Amino acid sequence: MADLTEQYGKFGISEKVYAFGEEILGSLQERFHGIDAVAEYNQLKVIRAMQECGVSEACLLGTTGYGYNDLGRDTLEKVYASFFHTEDALVRPQITCGTHALALALMSNLRPGDELLSPVGKPYDTLEEVIGIRPSKGSLREYGISYRQVDLLPDGSFDYDGIRAAINDKTRLVTIQRSKGYQTRPTLSVAQIGQLIRFVKEIRPDLICMVDNCYGEFVETIEPTDVGADMVVGSLIKNPGGGLAPIGGYIAGKKECVENAAYRLTSPGLGKEVGASLGILSSFYEGLFLAPNVTANALKGAIFAANIYEKLGYAVVPDGKQSRHDIIQAVTFGAPEGVIAFCQGIQAAAAVDSFVTPEPWDMPGYDSKVIMAAGAFVSGSSIELSADGPIAPPYAVYFQGGLTFPHAKLGILKTVQNLLDRQIISL
Ligand SMILES: *Cc1c(COP(=O)(O)O)cnc(C)c1O
Repeated sequence: MADLTEQYGKFGISEKVYAFGEEILGSLQERFHGIDAVAEYNQLKVIRAMQECGVSEACLLGTTGYGYNDLGRDTLEKVYASFFHTEDALVRPQITCGTHALALALMSNLRPGDELLSPVGKPYDTLEEVIGIRPSKGSLREYGISYRQVDLLPDGSFDYDGIRAAINDKTRLVTIQRSKGYQTRPTLSVAQIGQLIRFVKEIRPDLICMVDNCYGEFVETIEPTDVGADMVVGSLIKNPGGGLAPIGGYIAGKKECVENAAYRLTSPGLGKEVGASLGILSSFYEGLFLAPNVTANALKGAIFAANIYEKLGYAVVPDGKQSRHDIIQAVTFGAPEGVIAFCQGIQAAAAVDSFVTPEPWDMPGYDSKVIMAAGAFVSGSSIELSADGPIAPPYAVYFQGGLTFPHAKLGILKTVQNLLDRQIISL
C-alpha cells in the first residue's frame, strides 16, 4: 500500500523505520491469531454474562441522590460477578482508581492486629503508602495492621519455604499482584497464581487470597477467581473499562469480602444499597463489552514493541516470544535519555495533546521522578496508549495500552524514529 508510507511520513516516520516495523510485524502474524482467539472467547464470555443477568436498555440509565434501587448498577455488579464466577461484586464510579479499590479491599477486610502478607515481593508503588511501608496518613499500619513480604526467588519463582515461614497466627490476608507493575520481574500467569493460592490454603484455609488484577483482565481465558482467589480487584480505566469508562474500580469475590468493602466504601449499615450511578453506566457496560477486543489490541502493541526493541538490542520483559499475562511491556534503556525519547514518541502519536512534550516530574505516590506519556481521551487512562518510567536505574520504560492496534503501531514507530533522530540507536 503505497499511501501508507506517505501517511506515516506525515508523522515524521521515515521509510527506513516503517520498513523495519513491517519486517518485525511480518513475523508476528501467528501470535496475533492466538490473541484474536482469546479475544473471541472472552467476547462470548462477556456477552453471555450480560445475557444471563438480563441487561436491558433501562440498565443503561442512571439514578441520582441516594441511588436506592439502581437497576443498572445492581445488574452491572451481577454481570461482573457472573464474568468472574464470584458470589458478588462491587463496581462503582465512587471507587476513584485502582489504588483506591485495592486500599478499600484491604482496609475493609483487615482488622487491627491482623497481618497482611505479600508472597510475591514488593507491591505496586502506590500500595506502599496504603500499607504503610512508606509512612503515610491513614495507612494500614496506623490502624495497627502489620505487613510482611516474601520476595520472589532470583529466577522469578515462589519462595515456598519463605512463605510457609512467614504465615503466622496474625496473618489474615494474602495479596498477590498479577502484573509486574514498575518492576522487571515476570508477570504471573493465572495458573501460577492458582498454584500459590493452593499452597497458601493448604497451610491456612481461612486466609483471604486477594489478587491485584490490574492490567491482567481478559489477557487469558480464565481469571484468578477461577483458580481459587477470594477477591480480584482492578481499575476501570485499565482493561475492563474498555477505554470508555471515565472512572471507577471493581472488587469481585466472596460475598463476605465484597460486603465488607461495600460497608467501608459507603457506610456501615448502608453498604451496596446507596451510591447513585448518575449517568455513567452506559460507558461501564459498553466498555466491558469492548474490553476483550481492546485488550487484544493492547497486547498486540506490547508484542510488537517487545520484538522491535529486542531486535534493537535492549532487554525487554516479557521477551519477544514469551507468553503474555498482562498488557505491560518493559524496555530497559539503561539511561534516562532512552526513557525520555520513548515517552516523548508515544506522546507525539496521540490524538489528544500530541503537541505536549512530557518531562520527568515528582508524581504523588511515587518515590522518584517519573515521566509519563499520556495523550488520552480519559485522563491518565492506561488502557489507552501510554508509557511511563521512573527516572531511576535501571531506566526502564513501561509501555501499555492502545485502544486500536494501528494507534499502538504508530506510537511504537514514533519512539523508534525519536531514538534514531537522537542518535541513541542506529538502523
Ligand atoms: C495501575 C495499578 C495499580 C494502581 O491503580 P491506579 O488506578 O493507578 O491507582 C495497582 N496495581 C497495579 C499492578 C497496577 O498496574
